[in-house]
Amino acid sequence: MIKHALSVTRAQNFAGWYQEVISEADLAEESGVRGCMVIRPWGYGMWERIQKLMDAQIKAAGVENCYFPLFIPLSFFEKEADHVEGFAKEMAVVTHHRLIGDGKGKLIPDPDSKLEEPLVVRPTSETVIGAAMSRWVQSWRDLPLMVNQWANVVRWEMRTRMFLRTSEFLWQEGHTAHADRADAMQETMRALEMYRAFAEGPLAMPVVAGEKPENERFPGAVATYSIEAMMQDGKALQAGTSHYLGTGFAEASGIKYQDKDGSQQFAHTTSWGVSTRMIGGVIMTHGDDDGLRCPPQIAPHQIVIIPMLRDNDEDEAVLEYCRSLRLELLALHAFGEPLRVLLDTKAAKASNKRWSWVKKGAPIIVEVGPRDVGEGKAAVLRRDRLYKDDGKLATAFTPRGEFVAAAAGLLEDIQSTLYTQAKERLDANIRRDVTDLAAHFAGDEAKFAGWVEVQWARPTGAALDKIVEQLKSLKLTMRNSPIDAAAVDGACFFTGEPAVERILIGRTY
Ligand code: AMP
Repeated sequence: MIKHALSVTRAQNFAGWYQEVISEADLAEESGVRGCMVIRPWGYGMWERIQKLMDAQIKAAGVENCYFPLFIPLSFFEKEADHVEGFAKEMAVVTHHRLIGDGKGKLIPDPDSKLEEPLVVRPTSETVIGAAMSRWVQSWRDLPLMVNQWANVVRWEMRTRMFLRTSEFLWQEGHTAHADRADAMQETMRALEMYRAFAEGPLAMPVVAGEKPENERFPGAVATYSIEAMMQDGKALQAGTSHYLGTGFAEASGIKYQDKDGSQQFAHTTSWGVSTRMIGGVIMTHGDDDGLRCPPQIAPHQIVIIPMLRDNDEDEAVLEYCRSLRLELLALHAFGEPLRVLLDTKAAKASNKRWSWVKKGAPIIVEVGPRDVGEGKAAVLRRDRLYKDDGKLATAFTPRGEFVAAAAGLLEDIQSTLYTQAKERLDANIRRDVTDLAAHFAGDEAKFAGWVEVQWARPTGAALDKIVEQLKSLKLTMRNSPIDAAAVDGACFFTGEPAVERILIGRTY
């Protein structure tokens, strides 16, 4: 039996395992404010990698970065009825701008400082960006107008879980305005495809891209699309969304333009976002019973070199060997970028350092002791293949030159191995032959049941409500209608009417 680095295994208690990975991999910790987390350097480093790679994609699509205020006047939300309705319960509101002492040593809001209009801490920025767009857009020549911001937002969530659902989270939000529906839809789908490729590329996290059912639409949207990833417990994680907003927000904010024929038209807008939730998705997709396995493309350090120091006069030679090995590796490229290599000289036992990097999921861990220096070797450990069949660590004692020559390829291989493992799990766990949802999803909620794909007639109104309720009683939700699903032939799973599309059903985070 292997003795793993974590005290809880995925099989024993998936939720407990997730929490342990987050703390043992130094990703984040509770802050004392419910739903708000401290993101530690290793977790934030992953976010910075996500930002860097995604930002390049956003810019390549012709979208420009900008920044809008954190505080949004309440009246901005009130302009779009569905939008304010959807977010009302989650909005944090500032009502006073000053505190005063109550004479008993406590601070209370100064009644004289009551704001004429409350300010909402942004839960999303359609309204405030819409107001700016109404100033910036005059003529058809001003379109498309495409902006993005990297920011924090606040949604007062009831059930919070680190990274997956926090009250404050970090994200990017793209907002675009277009002359017509076709152009706006094209942008909506471009953003969706960007997210799909990003999840499957840098995050090595296979997803299904598709349209959300009506009841899961973003408040105020005409259509919402998502990427859905399957976690190792079979639950779905909505990992990103792209919305076609029609002209509703343009009408509310006055985003109008003069068309070529001189007529006044409302713009068609879109918005799309991904958040720090992606990091939770990466943990639950790739983590194992020894901690995180961080995909090399988003690992803050891809290779960590640990010198085995003994507090004697051999140490300097070991350090020198490690330093020059690091420099050699830094000159290499993987995924079109220079390698990121850390020499861990912290004052701790080498074996403790090794396990701490295993738990953090550094893709390659290299240990160097005096013997390796003498033999010109390095002890190389791949995080994606930690153990040999006999349960011992699969450390490969490799000639230094051979390791350096292989390093970039190893990282690329680890990235694709992680993807392949997750993709096989996803494909194997979407069932298309289930006729009885209650039986399939019966039992303990922790039971791995994956997703079920059915054909449906896409009913609306009361008929849809009935289905949503029926699924809810089984703790199930509709995830999305995959855009590249096979054609339908037959009756709706729920109503018996002719089916029009396929839809995925599962438990969700
Ligand atoms: P939305 O603006 O609601 O479409 O959200 C955009 C994306 O942000 C979603 O697809 C999620 O991936 C993510 N997200 C939404 N709510 C939260 C939350 N409370 N914590 C972390 N990420 C979130």
